[in-house]
Amino acid sequence: MTINQNFLRLKKNYLFAEIGRKVREYAGQNPSAAIIRLGIGDVTRPLPPAAIAAMHRAVDDMSRAETFVGYPTDYGLHFLEDAIQADYARRGVSIALDEIFISDGAKSDTGNIGDLFGAENIVAVCDPIYPVYVDTNLMAGREMFSIVCDAAHDFAPQLPQRHADVVYLCSPNNPTGMAMDAAQLKRWVDWANERGSVLLFDGAYEAYITDPKLPRSIYEIPGARTCAVEFRSFSKTAGFTGVRCAYTVIPKELLAGETSLNALWARRQASKFNGVSYITQRGAEATLSGEGRAQVAQTIQYYLRNAKTIRDGLCAAGFSVWGGVNSPYVWFRAPNGLSSWALFDQLLHEVQIVGTPGSGFGPAGEGCFRLTGFGTAEHTAEAVERIRKRYA
Ligand code: PLP
Repeated sequence: MTINQNFLRLKKNYLFAEIGRKVREYAGQNPSAAIIRLGIGDVTRPLPPAAIAAMHRAVDDMSRAETFVGYPTDYGLHFLEDAIQADYARRGVSIALDEIFISDGAKSDTGNIGDLFGAENIVAVCDPIYPVYVDTNLMAGREMFSIVCDAAHDFAPQLPQRHADVVYLCSPNNPTGMAMDAAQLKRWVDWANERGSVLLFDGAYEAYITDPKLPRSIYEIPGARTCAVEFRSFSKTAGFTGVRCAYTVIPKELLAGETSLNALWARRQASKFNGVSYITQRGAEATLSGEGRAQVAQTIQYYLRNAKTIRDGLCAAGFSVWGGVNSPYVWFRAPNGLSSWALFDQLLHEVQIVGTPGSGFGPAGEGCFRLTGFGTAEHTAEAVERIRKRYA
């Protein structure tokens, strides 16, 4: 037996482990410290009541032979596909039902989509970025290069000078919290169509876009259907991080030569995936009902208010700040040229706040830091007050 040697190229996954170790050590030495955690990317508010009621009803369905559901289909149950199609239609986007693939997460889908692409493809990935794209392409042994996303361009991904076959974009971005506008996305769509490249567009945070001028789907951009795959998730939208439900859209016009990526993904899912539980899909469907959407909007507003509190507080304290408007993430530059980890230690030791060092999202994140709006309003306000007192 030999192993896939590419796994040896992976960096040790130490970011959150190292954060946890440092926080435990500090808490052990300072048992009375009131530590506020604004580092996690996990939601904290309960599921929308509409989803809870739907899931209870779905459990009842499973208790009766007439309504019992066995294996779900590999691509998703029609009622949820219908609800997703209607959600796109509200934004003026037309998606066919067989272009929607329901899954257990955008993490698995953004990771697994690489199955469709040859090992010889050149892959471009934003830096700083959600690490799954880099890790999964390392596992596959593909050549990769970074797309410049720097402060000079407000962390908007810049078109590369060299060729890439596959490009990962994430908007609103984790970790920078910046959302791409229609003109920026159009440049990428045109670039990809001219070269026959594919854009893998991660819209896991689209529900946080509140600016009506910003696109919420890449398919709002003309030309995207021939070059883009879109990933979405109920995780950050509707509190499904522990329930697990997401979907990927692959338009039928998206071809590699003569081959349809939609057909390839359908084949891949049929062989490697057995679908998402009926109960979960009923819960997800309910989040897209009128009642569910109103409840989801309230929760998103809650997180966005927290993000605004952090953003306003950091700005008032003199930091350079990005994100926190159309995103739960606030991204800022460490003061006085501190490294990301040096600021982590300073915040933990001096004001007892836990955040995430920007360098954990790629080399270009060095010197930056991420805080999230996923805490409670009370803790968020208290954290901002501590930062103001320490740095203003
Ligand atoms: N995409 C991005 C950019 C994320 O930040 C995350 C989670 O943090 C995911 C995808 C994962 O989503 P899911 O919970 O649907 O797997």
